Amino acid sequence: VGGGQQRKTERPKPTYMTFEQIGGQDRAKQELTEALDFLIKHEEIKKFGIRPLKGILLTGPPGTGKTLMAKAAAHYTNSVYVAASGSEFVEMYVGVGAGRIRDLFKQARSQAVKEKKENAIIFIDEIDVIGGKREGGQQKEYDQTLNQLLTEMDGIYSNTVPRILIIAATNRKEMLDSALLRPGRFDRHIRVDLPDKKGRLHILNIHAANKPMDEEVNLDKIADQSFGFSGAQLESVMNEAAIYAMREAKGSIEQQHLTSAIDKVMLGEKTDREATS
Ligand code: ATP
Repeated sequence: VGGGQQRKTERPKPTYMTFEQIGGQDRAKQELTEALDFLIKHEEIKKFGIRPLKGILLTGPPGTGKTLMAKAAAHYTNSVYVAASGSEFVEMYVGVGAGRIRDLFKQARSQAVKEKKENAIIFIDEIDVIGGKREGGQQKEYDQTLNQLLTEMDGIYSNTVPRILIIAATNRKEMLDSALLRPGRFDRHIRVDLPDKKGRLHILNIHAANKPMDEEVNLDKIADQSFGFSGAQLESVMNEAAIYAMREAKGSIEQQHLTSAIDKVMLGEKTDREATS
């Protein structure tokens, strides 16, 4: 044999997300996986003549895990994942936004071919920016962008591979143009709400998993004290608590660090809101 030592090639850490890594949201996860099964069971879909699922709309407050859901959906269905955010389209010149949408679909298809995958998921966060209700005639650039999105969606057929599914997210569903919500477009809506206590505890546990926690820590109490917090805020609580523990040169995170972190996150949110109001 060659004699040369087999060198281990450095592989990047897996960056995929699974539904197990998302805390709480049991109902949303179930509704989403049921919808995704439509993508997987494409043969049956064809047999029964069911209209293919093209768009899923995730609605709910910021930081509740909508992006995580879209990423987990891609892993669950063995799809490539490409993403864009509505905010990218702000102040784009007429036509540029439409081009970006076209490129997004092109990229999804070519990436699927390259990675030999049958499905592609396109995630569009803050869809309300491009798909907001038309008021007056002043939104020409958004009109073209939205029209391009609708054209791309209308051009999706279930029997061509890669199959494309669009997942969009918004926290302002009532703002969306009705053209987006018609059958064959975003006709399946899943609400991703703020977590209840059980959900908060689950999320806290997920984010505590890679941190040294003191034996006395009672996360159940922290879940009680963080009523109204989103997943993103709970992640911040864990992170801030870790920073407090490190600053105090403690070996692990203690209960007091977590309660201080709750205050800090709550206060931070308040000053953010005051600053914008
Ligand atoms: P936005 O509407 O602001 O885009 P979002 O609903 O898409 O927010 P995410 O981007 O998915 O929220 O979540 C932000 C971060 O908050 C995640 O990276 C994760 O660390 C944490 N997080 C949010 N929800 C959950 C959850 N259910 N379980 C675990 N972590 C969560």
